[in-house]
Amino acid sequence: MTAERPPISPFNLPTLIGREAEYISEVLAGDHASGNGRFTELAQAELGRLLGGGRALLTTSCSTALEMAAILTGVGPGDEVIMPSYTFTSTANAVVLRGATPVFVDVRPDTLNIDERLIEQAVTPRTRAITVVHYAGVGCEMDVILSTAARHDLAVVEDAAQAICATWRGQPLGRQGALAAFSFHETKNIISGEGGALIVNRDDLVERAEIIWEKGTNRVKFKRGEISKYNWVDVGGSYLPGELTAAFLYAQLQNAEKAIRQRLALWQRYYAALKDVEDRGFCTRPHCPPHCQHNGHIFYLLAPTTEARERWLAGFRAIGINAPFHYVPLHSAPAGRRFGRVSGPLAVTDSIASRLVRLPLHLHLSEAQQDFIIEQTIGIVSGSR
Ligand SMILES: *Cc1c(COP(=O)(O)O)cnc(C)c1O
Repeated sequence: MTAERPPISPFNLPTLIGREAEYISEVLAGDHASGNGRFTELAQAELGRLLGGGRALLTTSCSTALEMAAILTGVGPGDEVIMPSYTFTSTANAVVLRGATPVFVDVRPDTLNIDERLIEQAVTPRTRAITVVHYAGVGCEMDVILSTAARHDLAVVEDAAQAICATWRGQPLGRQGALAAFSFHETKNIISGEGGALIVNRDDLVERAEIIWEKGTNRVKFKRGEISKYNWVDVGGSYLPGELTAAFLYAQLQNAEKAIRQRLALWQRYYAALKDVEDRGFCTRPHCPPHCQHNGHIFYLLAPTTEARERWLAGFRAIGINAPFHYVPLHSAPAGRRFGRVSGPLAVTDSIASRLVRLPLHLHLSEAQQDFIIEQTIGIVSGSR
């Protein structure tokens, strides 16, 4: 029997989930289109509500939020920052741009997050910070990470690009480290085209963060009426997005919880439907520890071997299903070899990076499309295709 084949869904499709068009029109009709206007303030307040505190500053991307974090933690030439190798380039670029060295540590085989037990042995007298990545919105083991950091006086930065509205021990992720960076790129759960936010969780860093954000000036203070003129007072960049982006984001953030519930339902359907093929030893589904609640950002499967993954990828390609893989581990990429170094063997990183496949997951995915993908996936991974 051949299933009726529904129109093939792309891997990702940006979705409007609220009053984006209305708010963007308001900006177009108004007299303030540059940054730090009404929608920026509304979006920052909404983020504060979702995260239960922290000073949120909208940025042009998660990459630039991470760059601000690197300036704020004071890393410079000769300094080292511990991070996973299994991540996007921005995690490392941010510290390389300051002249510091990323030190790559292996990940856990279950959550694919940095292996907190390997951080201590990567610490040297030059270590200044730890950047953790909450992969797929699953929280890192923050209690061990925070206590290791405290013992060695290191700043903790959370690359929370994928972690909006996910929790760790009941608390929103992005509130555990001194600083956290979110992404609102169109491939993430909550979007504004390009966009991001820096969350400043330490009060003593807020004033400097506001200055770095506004080209090294104290313009934010001026805008609040705290000073009569603004001036160049520190290093900085133009890290703030315009109001069109902020308006887009505000509409998304207002509906974040609902959008994430829908996404989790799709994730859960994959998870339930693929239990049997995991039980039969054909693949491994994602793992989320009981003290974490993820946000359905990524649904992936791990193949038993690299060869099996090659077979899967060919199978998905043949049927027209967009099932990509990521990441090329940073320590094995040309720039990673040039700018970074490894601490210990990265055997788990190399292994999972060569075995992971992601399935399409976005809010336009219909049940019929998902059923088709599930049926094909079962066939492909169990080797019948
Ligand atoms: C998406 C992503 C980034 C980059 O986000 P941008 O907003 O595109 O700069 C950084 N780190 C991780 C882990 C990501 O998934």
